[in-house]
Amino acid sequence: MRSDRNNPFRIAQEQFDRAAALLDLPDNVREVLRVPQRELTVRFPVLMDDGSTRIFTGYRVQHNLGRGPTKGGIRYHPSVDIDEVRALAMWMTWKCALVNIPYGGAKGGVVCDPTTLSSGELERLTRRFATEVAIVVGSERDIPAPDVNTNPQIMAWFMDTLSMQQGHTINAVVTGKPVQVGGSLGRNEATGRGVSLMVREWARRQQRRLEDLRVVVQGFGNVGGVAAALIAALGCRVIAVGDASGGYLCRDGLNIIEMRRYADRHPRRLLEGYSAPGVERIDNKTLLETPCDVLVPAALENQITDQNAERIRATLIVEGANGPTTPQADAILEERGITVIPDILANAGGVTVSYFEWVQGLQSFFWNEQDVNRRLEQIMVNAFEQVCDLADQRGISLRLAAYLLAVRRVADANLIRGLYP
Ligand code: NAD
Repeated sequence: MRSDRNNPFRIAQEQFDRAAALLDLPDNVREVLRVPQRELTVRFPVLMDDGSTRIFTGYRVQHNLGRGPTKGGIRYHPSVDIDEVRALAMWMTWKCALVNIPYGGAKGGVVCDPTTLSSGELERLTRRFATEVAIVVGSERDIPAPDVNTNPQIMAWFMDTLSMQQGHTINAVVTGKPVQVGGSLGRNEATGRGVSLMVREWARRQQRRLEDLRVVVQGFGNVGGVAAALIAALGCRVIAVGDASGGYLCRDGLNIIEMRRYADRHPRRLLEGYSAPGVERIDNKTLLETPCDVLVPAALENQITDQNAERIRATLIVEGANGPTTPQADAILEERGITVIPDILANAGGVTVSYFEWVQGLQSFFWNEQDVNRRLEQIMVNAFEQVCDLADQRGISLRLAAYLLAVRRVADANLIRGLYP
């Protein structure tokens, strides 16, 4: 069990409460927004390769439907629980509102360790989970996407299952699909691209040269791996990266392209066993505390806590992951003058291109990659500017500024629609 301090849902509520108090939201709106609107828990059997049957538990939580259908990823991980899914759903609501796309937030997950499942088991688990949550999911209701340990293939199985049940192909029921079956060009890289745009824009505002920035990235999957590559392509020096197998440090700069190729060939997509001249192995704790200009936590939540915030030696933290920093750590970092670009802004590139994928699917009209990246850049840079301007005006953190903008939009939508019945 998680302690209350590290409970992501308590943390999400605490972050919301701070914004709600400053916005002076009416009590009834506050009560509606601080809890999820709908929660579904499912327990379902899956046939294993050895002929046995195993029962899995899964969740789908829809936090708020005020601004449109709900949207959010599906996570496969042993530590998934209802509070984690509630928090992730709530963060999705604020994220979609912040980049002003017409969605509410949702999230889903299955308690499992996918590294112990064969491809056949993973497919049967996905198809059965899709069936169990079909009563709340749909292209106009709630649209899943990939998250930790889920990928385009899993999204394709999800889409195929729901399509088979309806008797026709429903492209727009999930996003993050392979491009061959209605995925969007640029979706795979979108979250990491958004993270790299945050680094670029921050450097521009601070008048820092990109070539002078030393960057550390925790997590080397869809978000961290792509972010590391695109940040290196900006000209920054990525000096350390890490994943579940540990950390890898080279003060002269790592060869991220080679490392991504290595991880792609690994059966569990890890850097495990990677070595190169000048590359030192470090543990994850040391990785986070490595002196650098920019730290990108892009793995899981609760990585920067009151236990290590005093030892973080970065100027800027860009939250690629959801919820990597606890409120206690946030306070310490703020006190120490370390800037944090919050998750609901920094990693919003993923849901933004998911939105593009959904729009393209509904219209059956697909854009080229330059169009996708150009529109993504416009939205991310615009949101970054709005958040920085508000933070400067009011002398508050970027997180609080982002929450004020996002919560206001969601509250307004709910107030304008009124109370039914
Ligand atoms: P992923 O499964 O592709 O990658 C996760 C990475 O984290 C892997 O490299 C894994 O080895 C590493 N990791 C796991 N446990 C670790 C540990 N204890 N210490 C260090 N590294 C560890 O997942 P992802 O899609 O890249 O998601 C990462 C984070 O970004 C999550 O918080 C997710 O919610 C968030 N996010 C993802 C997207 C998206 O589009 N995929 C969008 C927004 C936010």
